[in-house]
Amino acid sequence: MSGAEVFTGSFTQQEPIPEEAIEAAVAVMRTGRLHRYNTSGGELSEVAALEREFAAYTGAKYALAVASGGYAMGAALRAVGVGPGDRVLTNAFTLAPVPGAIAGVGGVPVFVGVTEALTIDLDDLEAKADQGRVLMLSHMRGHLADMDRLMQICDAAGVTVIEDCAHTMGAAWRGRMSGRDGLIGCYSVQTYKHLNAGEGGLLITDDDEVMARAILLSGSYMLYGKHGTVPPEAAFAQAKYEMPNVSGRMDNLRAAILRTQLARLDAQCAAWTQRYRVVEDGLRGTAGLTVIERPEEESFVGSSIQFLLADWTDAAVSALISRCAARGVHLKWFGGAEPEGYTSRYDSWHYAPSAALPPSDRILRAIVDMRLPLTFSLDDCALIARIVRAEVGAVWQAGAARITR
Ligand SMILES: *Cc1c(COP(=O)(O)O)cnc(C)c1O
Repeated sequence: MSGAEVFTGSFTQQEPIPEEAIEAAVAVMRTGRLHRYNTSGGELSEVAALEREFAAYTGAKYALAVASGGYAMGAALRAVGVGPGDRVLTNAFTLAPVPGAIAGVGGVPVFVGVTEALTIDLDDLEAKADQGRVLMLSHMRGHLADMDRLMQICDAAGVTVIEDCAHTMGAAWRGRMSGRDGLIGCYSVQTYKHLNAGEGGLLITDDDEVMARAILLSGSYMLYGKHGTVPPEAAFAQAKYEMPNVSGRMDNLRAAILRTQLARLDAQCAAWTQRYRVVEDGLRGTAGLTVIERPEEESFVGSSIQFLLADWTDAAVSALISRCAARGVHLKWFGGAEPEGYTSRYDSWHYAPSAALPPSDRILRAIVDMRLPLTFSLDDCALIARIVRAEVGAVWQAGAARITR
């Protein structure tokens, strides 16, 4: 491999926090008022201002800022009445905090399969729609299912949709913002998502009662009137006696750094997708590797890219991952049998036993993933694609990469 190109960037290095955001954070610290309800006079807290701005950005009536994306999902489930023993439909292909949020409220995940487009299998969803009253829909890795058909299926079956938009903040289906088709949209602002507060989450809805319950759940005490977007008092009348106070508030420091970032979100999303397209173009037409085709209706945010190594043997996938790693390209295999790093498979969540999903297992085994942080230049992205392409070629041509069926 001497003379071969090597990539030296870091797949886990995000951009620094913008100077303007740092100044906003310092200004909050100078006041000492970091708690969202610690306001002076008629002051609107940073968290409340963020809620107004995020509601405006998404077009939702209400937004609530909380401690994490996982917390937002848990609060959403509880706000629609999911409790111990209730079955909740969700994606088999997702990240551990999704079944984790369901289990956290005592719910029981019912896994729905994944397609080669890496979206929820709508035929499987239709077949299972009578098995749960709620769908926790994860737009895993930013892939949007046909949201028109999905909503038809769920509306017909009386299934309430909660969207996990951890990877689709800024994305849309036929012009509708991700998170706006379901009753509730949940977002994460953890470092690896589209806004970076270290940790944090947001929840949006148009529903008065759902938002009143979510606000109370998040730990508002009786200070809910201080929120950025507040439902009418009537929505709190019963809920304030019924909702437990499960502290999960956001603080003013994080909100301050998020507000500046939110103002730049669309430009950031475009920059991600530009990088994605460069890698995608470089990988297209590589024998043995399948590029994921993106539907025309989908405006996605390319903050990570996936491809399939369909029917490759475990040994060949492992060989490819080590060969790429030796050249500085760190691929993640979502299909690995053992949980590793951030990735795990539905069959490793033993608290949520599932029947096997053979068509999905075949796809899950094939999924390879890369993050595309904005610290990568377009040239970096072209180089990464050249390296992956060359190494796939080397493993593929060596033969025996494919399972024969
Ligand atoms: C990150 C992530 C979450 C959870 O967000 P946290 O803020 O880390 O709790 C949920 N779903 C998906 C798909 C994620 O990637």
